[in-house]
Amino acid sequence: MDTLTNGQFNELRGLLRGELLEANSAGYDEARTVWNAMIDRRPAAIVRCAGTADVRASLAYARDHQLRLAVRGGGHNIAGSALCDDGLVIDLSRMRSVYVDPERRRAWVEGGAILRDFDHEAQAYGLATPLGINSTTGVAGLTLGGGFGWLSRTLGLAADNLLSAEMITADAQRRQVSATDDPDLFWAIRGGGGNFGVVTRFEFALHPVGPQITAGLIVYPFAQAREVLQQYRDAVASMAPDLTVWAVLRKAPPLPFLAPQAHGQDALVLPVFSPAQGQAVDAAIARIARLGEPLGMHVGPMPYKAWQQIFDPMLTPGARNYWKSHNFTHLSDEAIDVVVRYAGNLPTSQCEIFLGLLGGQAGAPSPQATAYPHRNALYVMNVHTRWEDPADDERCIAWARSFFADAAPYASGGVYVNFMPQDEGERSFDAYGANYARLAQIKATYDPDNLFHTNQNIRPASATAAAG
Ligand code: FAD
Repeated sequence: MDTLTNGQFNELRGLLRGELLEANSAGYDEARTVWNAMIDRRPAAIVRCAGTADVRASLAYARDHQLRLAVRGGGHNIAGSALCDDGLVIDLSRMRSVYVDPERRRAWVEGGAILRDFDHEAQAYGLATPLGINSTTGVAGLTLGGGFGWLSRTLGLAADNLLSAEMITADAQRRQVSATDDPDLFWAIRGGGGNFGVVTRFEFALHPVGPQITAGLIVYPFAQAREVLQQYRDAVASMAPDLTVWAVLRKAPPLPFLAPQAHGQDALVLPVFSPAQGQAVDAAIARIARLGEPLGMHVGPMPYKAWQQIFDPMLTPGARNYWKSHNFTHLSDEAIDVVVRYAGNLPTSQCEIFLGLLGGQAGAPSPQATAYPHRNALYVMNVHTRWEDPADDERCIAWARSFFADAAPYASGGVYVNFMPQDEGERSFDAYGANYARLAQIKATYDPDNLFHTNQNIRPASATAAAG
């Protein structure tokens, strides 16, 4: 890496329409803050790009000066891969425009847009594409890793709905990639993460959704968790793809439909969602409400946009977070026992264990259809360990690791790349699975020097050593 001399970035600054921040610039600390407060990295410079030209200039500068490079979309990645120490950050957080063509049902979305930007524009026409469950997450990182949420059982992953992307690759060239142009690269960015270039604009397919959908929460007492989860698993086997039910074990929030004495107590929460409305959906949800004796429930029609933001208050930025994740093709009684045992011993009141349900259209394509390989993962379990006080770091992380280890014998061995913390670099093979070899070949073609390596990295095929 070049030694940076005082004023070195003035040359780059002169090439930009956006802002370049160094350690002594106002706003530098805010610009190096990401969702997970465990991440404390100090880049030499952060370029808040105003457009594609800034991305190209910054990328060429980093490459020519052999600077470590990171790319920031929504800044939500748990591993903090939006930032690097010492090097240069291409920050797209000022590039959030979303353009919708309602006639052609297409959306063009800039690389720094967050989910709520997308939903806001698309829902103005009653349209949507599958995204995630927290509206401040970046569209870019989510889609590049696969991306799933409430619509995925009906409409597939976010990546499955990607039609094309404008990218700046390591040679600082602009490429418009699609099924017909640079098809290998287009395949790789649908699950291969940020390994292949900076996406400045995505083109998505849109589908009619809402504005009203059916959704809500069914809350069971923790004492019934084991039996309800077993029955939930059995119900999933015949569940229609337009119904999605997740399972979350946590302290019950102070929800108005729960008795005050239930607030703060361990509970099993089943969030339910369907893009449909009507008797068939109501009947299917009523069956979920009969898996045990709920403490309370609140389910009914609501605006899709409101549901997309409903969990935001529990997922605010600024807390300390450590995640551990497993995929499951089947939820055995033994796996449920481990989940319930650890859920009864959450290290802080903000922690939760969740089981996201996939299947349906999310599982329909072959594992080789896109770079996202986990089409057989019916449940994605994520341990959201979350706390405020650094003094709790060791205790909370130890709990998550212990749970992860005890659950491992019942899991598939695969992991969703977007849920991996910073100390899981060695799990990259589990994240990319059988697609790793093809990804490494494509990496060797488009990024032979591994410029994009501050991520869950794919080493270029035949590379003996990657950049450090
Ligand atoms: P960033 O931290 O900005 O970037 C993540 C990675 O993508 C980095 O390696 C970065 O270099 C790369 N990257 C970002 N932008 C670009 C770009 N424009 N071009 C090229 N590379 C880029 N995931 C789901 O699938 N479903 C969910 O429901 C879901 N819920 C979540 C809720 C919360 C509270 C959080 C924190 C995360 C959630 N995630 C979910 C995981 C999420 O998909 C990842 O954290 C994802 O990496 C976030 O993308 P980002 O753009 O915000 O992240």
